[in-house]
Amino acid sequence: MAVSMDKLVALCKTRGIIFPGSEIYGGMGNTWDYGPVGVEIKNNIKRAWWKRFVQESENSYGLDAAILMNARVWEASGHTTSFSDPKMDCKKCKTRHRADTLIEAHSKGKVNPDGMTNEEMETYIREHEVHCPNCGGFDWTPIRTFNLMFETSRGVTDESQNKIYLRPETAQGEFINFLNVQRTTRAKVPFGIAQIGKAFRNEITPGNFIFRTIEFEQMEHQWFCKEGTDQAFYEEYKTRAMQFLLDLGFKAEHLRFHDHEKLAHYARAACDIEYLYPMGWSELNGIHNRTDYDLTRHQEYSGKSLLYVDPVDNSRYIPYVIEYSIGADRLMLAVLSEAYDEETLEGGEIRNVLRFHPAIAPYKAAVLPLQKNLSEKARAVEKLLKKRFFITYDEAGSIGKRYRRQDEIGTPFCITVDFDTLENDTVTVRERDSMRQIRLPIQELTAFLDEKISF
Ligand code: ATP
Repeated sequence: MAVSMDKLVALCKTRGIIFPGSEIYGGMGNTWDYGPVGVEIKNNIKRAWWKRFVQESENSYGLDAAILMNARVWEASGHTTSFSDPKMDCKKCKTRHRADTLIEAHSKGKVNPDGMTNEEMETYIREHEVHCPNCGGFDWTPIRTFNLMFETSRGVTDESQNKIYLRPETAQGEFINFLNVQRTTRAKVPFGIAQIGKAFRNEITPGNFIFRTIEFEQMEHQWFCKEGTDQAFYEEYKTRAMQFLLDLGFKAEHLRFHDHEKLAHYARAACDIEYLYPMGWSELNGIHNRTDYDLTRHQEYSGKSLLYVDPVDNSRYIPYVIEYSIGADRLMLAVLSEAYDEETLEGGEIRNVLRFHPAIAPYKAAVLPLQKNLSEKARAVEKLLKKRFFITYDEAGSIGKRYRRQDEIGTPFCITVDFDTLENDTVTVRERDSMRQIRLPIQELTAFLDEKISF
């Protein structure tokens, strides 16, 4: 069922999924802290992605590059000169907005502002009387561009200070390590480099919860291939990116491709996968054919050859790159929205459930003693399962209430220890979605959970 953003934010706070950043100091815009339940969900999302795109992928290798890099990296990538957003301030309520986002929202996605000049955007906003989404006013400052990179400096004395940046994307770490990875793994083109890591952008427009934050995690995969094979791989990555989401349990009607009509000057093709978030259709991930642009630029700026030598015919060339990039936090928001359900049971009671794929669920099972005097046996079951899985334990309140609490955080299985358990070492296992119960020997629980949570 569709959930409103307000409901989702409140639910995340009360269930220990996500808290507002720096809350006791009055907060800090567009920052969020992941709580005990949220950190498990996010780790599971990252694990599922890594498994699919590194562990199970032929010829793909992992990397964890530094966040702080030589500032020349960002000159080569073009970020120091052109990584900026067109900002306008509402003179009436003093809120700041992105001109491109205003146009997109006003035209309900029919007008694509990518590639419009600032003058063209100002004209559109004036002619179509695009009002401030915050106060309804129509009194805008001219567009100003604003670099999104966070600057910092290294060095202890003023003279040795050098301006450096918190990386605004993880991709450049993969580009500059292209030959390191290729040589040490003896990989042959085509091959991929994947990385999960923090990125930072000085986003100052409203964030829609964790959709747009100033500090976030990206999961990026760069596929290095020979020119001529690039478009086929681009199509393959579109399919793989979509399949990953479908396998996580997303409904096909909540996802769509958005092919870019206007491309960056270096790109041959680009598209997003959009998800139907509580605030409407928005980008979840991007897939781009970046040609040989990035490696060529780094070769030029570093003065180091980034040519790949083909071991079969000894030809030398700079590979093309297909980039697949998805935000872990944006995926988390999509996963939460998709999983949220309010089910009306017979008798009219409403059951709140997060219907996560078991691989994503924060706890794989909850161990519940039917009565408190069964806790010793229940604790033994918990201890046994904890070695392999994230397990939670609850003995407070009626069994019905405890089932509901687990439904609310998406625990796929509740394992109840009752008096029969003491007799024959069997337990009741209740499945979250169907609420069906089966009886299983304790010794079969590990294999049962293993099979159910596999992704
Ligand atoms: P947008 O147009 O929404 O600003 P983008 O096109 O600039 O996004 P990319 O630079 O292609 O995004 O980044 C790749 C992915 O990283 C995005 O698809 C998104 O999932 C994620 N991402 C980008 N910016 C943010 C942010 N500020 N907060 C959270 N996730 C982000």
